[in-house]
Amino acid sequence: MYDFIIIGGGILGMSTAMQLKQAYPDRRMLVVEKEREAARHQTGHNSGVIHAGVYYTPGSLKARFCLEGNRATKAFCDAHGIAYDTCGKLLVATNEQEKQRMEALWERTAANGLEREWLSSEALKEREPNITGIAGIFVPSSGIVDYAEVTRAMAAEFERLGGEIRFGAEVTALEERRQEVVVTTSTGEFTGRYLVSCSGLMADRVVRLLGRDPGFSICPFRGEYYLLPAEHNAIVNHLIYPIPDPSMPFLGVHLTRMIDGSVTVGPNAVLALAREGYRKRDVSLSDMARMFSDPGILRVLGKNLRPGLAEMKNSLHKRGYLELVRKYCPSLTLEDLEPYPAGVRAQAVTRDGKLVDDFLFVNTRRTVNVGNAPSPAATSALPIGAHIVGKVKELVEA
Ligand SMILES: Cc1cc2nc3c(=O)[nH]c(=O)nc-3n(C[C@H](O)[C@H](O)[C@H](O)COP(=O)(O)OP(=O)(O)OC[C@H]3O[C@@H](n4cnc5c(N)ncnc54)[C@H](O)[C@@H]3O)c2cc1C
Repeated sequence: MYDFIIIGGGILGMSTAMQLKQAYPDRRMLVVEKEREAARHQTGHNSGVIHAGVYYTPGSLKARFCLEGNRATKAFCDAHGIAYDTCGKLLVATNEQEKQRMEALWERTAANGLEREWLSSEALKEREPNITGIAGIFVPSSGIVDYAEVTRAMAAEFERLGGEIRFGAEVTALEERRQEVVVTTSTGEFTGRYLVSCSGLMADRVVRLLGRDPGFSICPFRGEYYLLPAEHNAIVNHLIYPIPDPSMPFLGVHLTRMIDGSVTVGPNAVLALAREGYRKRDVSLSDMARMFSDPGILRVLGKNLRPGLAEMKNSLHKRGYLELVRKYCPSLTLEDLEPYPAGVRAQAVTRDGKLVDDFLFVNTRRTVNVGNAPSPAATSALPIGAHIVGKVKELVEA
């Protein structure tokens, strides 16, 4: 019998496991992960940005946890010898409409307590000779890191403290009883007094395994990237972001310096035809059947038909994709876009067709389940883990 069982070997599962073990050093704990190693899904397929907290609604969990997470991630990296670079980020407006939207972001960055600097087009050019825009915002606290490495360090810390991890163990059934939760996996059955689920793209399915209606479904959005050739590794000095459409939850195709020195372009946001479908040709008929019979997802698709089709077109035609980045980096050409692995985002959608904006948790008497944890959840992993530990404590003490 375990005291706590955690589902998911992504950054949220490992952050929670590590902090739960720090809070309850004498309790038996187990992480179950269906893959052969940690960070095989969202955590290992992202932009690697330590976000500063620019975009999020003031007072939201995202705003709070991102700000805290930015500092906590860097402190964790310092303590564990993990490389990161606080290279700063530039938001770039390329026309008057974007400049107006950027003014709203300027206010938001103030409300979210961020240090930032408004740049004229000349000041922008001075900082970034290869970037063109009519104005910009510089946010110095943004950085880059390898989140898979951070996750592995959290897992190692959890094991050092006596926690157990079982890879290759897919949770197939759950039963919440009066005194315990029975977790059936592909490699055997485990019983825990309490359960935490950090299952990413499978978040809604895990809640359903408990016999509960989560009230949302996960809609998978592929994020496709390209890699710039190595001779362009110095094309930018900072992370370069366009001004996003405030009605969409994604940040737009950006130029990202990676911690290995390379530069990626992306990600876009297209509907994935399989929850864990990383290649364009990956299709799961059962995932699609469930998606296209889900009233909330159908509403989202219906409401966003035009931008959705535009994203699909640019996904299929490299030239359209290129134009998104040429708006602010005009020197790039088609030959500069080399293949790079895609990621798939887990975005919760409510039954009435709303994309859940904030982080979301679903609690039962003996379980805490992460429901919605899209970007900036990697940045926020330490505060999210601490938040879950707080929720577990409430359950234990109830
Ligand atoms: C394209 C893209 C770019 C992003 N860029 C950034 C960024 O720059 N900065 C940032 O802060 N965030 C970013 N994010 C978001 C961030 O990557 C995620 O929010 C974060 O990784 C979520 O972590 P997680 O542990 O919840 O999920 P995951 O990493 O997906 O982990 C969930 C784990 O649960 C396991 N699991 C699921 N079901 C079961 C089951 N039944 N049994 C056992 N195991 C199971 C899975 O195998 C998986 O390993 C990005 C995401 C994407 C996709």
